[in-house]
Amino acid sequence: MNCTDNKIIIAIDGFSSSGKSTMAKELAKRIGYRYIDSGAMYRAVTLYALEHDMILADGSVDVESLVAALGDINIDFLPCADGQHTLLNGRDVEKEIRTLRVSSSVSPVAVIPAVRHALVAKQQAFGDGRGIVMDGRDIGTTVFPDAELKIYVNAPAETRAHRRWLELQEKGDTTTTYEQVLENVVSRDHIDMTREESPLRRADDAIDLDNTEMTIDEQNEWLLNQFNRALTGKK
Ligand code: C5P
Repeated sequence: MNCTDNKIIIAIDGFSSSGKSTMAKELAKRIGYRYIDSGAMYRAVTLYALEHDMILADGSVDVESLVAALGDINIDFLPCADGQHTLLNGRDVEKEIRTLRVSSSVSPVAVIPAVRHALVAKQQAFGDGRGIVMDGRDIGTTVFPDAELKIYVNAPAETRAHRRWLELQEKGDTTTTYEQVLENVVSRDHIDMTREESPLRRADDAIDLDNTEMTIDEQNEWLLNQFNRALTGKK
């Protein structure tokens, strides 16, 4: 027996800006698990591609160059007072990866099978000791198909875009419009659901959550209850 025996893996999947990260982070804090934002990893690879001119003027990706560079891209997370920050080759890129510039290019990067294989392997390594809450699009289907608790979050695109737009405003971005955010959310949903390699899909054993009418506190309570039930089921 070892100290990881009672720890489980929690996979939270869903559409862009569905509030997955907020609830995943809070749950991890409450139960003392590690939180991993898998979307941040795809965003960091995208930032690298943008900075190395691998995203072409028409928005397509120079796949060959990016795949060749994958070995040079190191992504990690650093716990900070205001939450976890994403590191790209040791540099704190937490703010940059949340911009619309990165959001607009991330889904075409995330369809590339070699990118997915590299990031999925890293995500699985994070889960080695269990005791992890990870959010994304394919966590319950591809990264941790044996996760003890799987949640699939959804809400209408307009609700999600409005939330993301408010978040950007709060961070001081007053130039991005709601319409731009909505367009980005709809386009990412489409690419994420229709790509060949591990598309966004509800795992058969996932629990659905439509959080349109829920406050953040209500979502947190709901998730904690699901966690306690999963833990009881495991004993
Ligand atoms: O979760 P977030 O919106 O930050 O993710 C950014 C993008 O990364 C998604 O739109 C999707 O294209 C990609 N992604 C993915 N698989 C994951 C997490 C994110 O393809 N597990």
